[in-house]
Amino acid sequence: MSQPPGQLTFVAPRRAKPARHLADLSMADRRAAVAELGEKAFRADQLSRHYFERLTTDVSAMTDLPAGSREKLAALLPSLLTPVRELTTDGGTTRKTLWRLFDGALVESVLMRYPDRVTMCVSSQAGCGMNCPFCATGQAGLTRNMSTAEIVEQVVAGARALAAGEVPGGPGRVSNVVFMGMGEPLANYKQVIGAVRRLVEPAPHGLGISARGVTVSTVGLVPAIGKLADEGLPVTLALSLHAPDDELRDTLVPINTRWKVAEVLDAAWAYAARTKRRVSIEYALIKDVNDHEWRADLLGKLVKNKLVHVNLIPLNPTPGSKWTASRPEDERAFVRRLEFHGVPVTVRDTRGREIDGACGQLAAAE
Ligand code: SAH
Repeated sequence: MSQPPGQLTFVAPRRAKPARHLADLSMADRRAAVAELGEKAFRADQLSRHYFERLTTDVSAMTDLPAGSREKLAALLPSLLTPVRELTTDGGTTRKTLWRLFDGALVESVLMRYPDRVTMCVSSQAGCGMNCPFCATGQAGLTRNMSTAEIVEQVVAGARALAAGEVPGGPGRVSNVVFMGMGEPLANYKQVIGAVRRLVEPAPHGLGISARGVTVSTVGLVPAIGKLADEGLPVTLALSLHAPDDELRDTLVPINTRWKVAEVLDAAWAYAARTKRRVSIEYALIKDVNDHEWRADLLGKLVKNKLVHVNLIPLNPTPGSKWTASRPEDERAFVRRLEFHGVPVTVRDTRGREIDGACGQLAAAE
């Protein structure tokens, strides 16, 4: 189902929807849903504590609920994700899971434990319609949008594994969530915002993860960036720039044919001004494609003196691609050029390489 070069898919194919889940709903809607099942509204709070605080979906263990209510309430906790494969590396502190959704669609999530934090990388769509030629997911096209609960469940699964002490380093919590798995989060706007709310709201409403720890990464859907700025959710915006000039970016990030570099950067600066959050510019360094010193210079000029951080990512080559990561000396020169302009820059560590950590590679192999 590969996409012709440059073709963009904004509207997800119509498919059957996953079952309604507690995590799809605001607290008010949960109370209404519980009442619809013939239960007292406060049962929604109890059920929410079990799910978001104790991370359990096993109603038989919910002894504060009357036995007769448990089966009825179980309808709000359907199983949405089935693990298909799990791969670990870095002594077990990087775990990638391939999930099957109710309709057979495949998505991936990755848990990365560092000394000071745990980051979960989650998917927001099965596949992606944005067709970036260096990205494994982009090559497969868009299968469908994920529901809010399907997105949240990936984080809950990680939180559960950490709480149970299954990840080396002792029991822990998820501190960061990045929407850098499969999919374009801003093309599935409503469900993604719902998921962000569930992540950041304190229990019993949600998981209580700091909004500062949540990063939404986008190819640059300009109107949606504006909308996100108005949500009052101070999440970090990551913009996948990958080229500072329209000519190259038109091919590397095809959405650029719709919204140009100057427009998307303006949207990013407006986001930073509105939220006071530093915008992260993502730039995958591809050997002899976008890693020239003049491009580093141009990028430096475009982003200097802004509330910004540039994150350089050595390209993780996808199977069959002619592209590979930059030479170390070119990478160093690129960094130096940005530093010359006073731009904060880091080179992202390449965790999970050996387990096809790059977005979409596991699903593509299945
Ligand atoms: N659709 C969103 C989020 C998913 S991808 C976006 O594009 O931002 C998360 C990041 O990984 C993006 O910056 C994307 O460009 C980058 N990426 C995708 N494939 C990659 C690869 N093979 N090597 C390095 N980075 C890659």
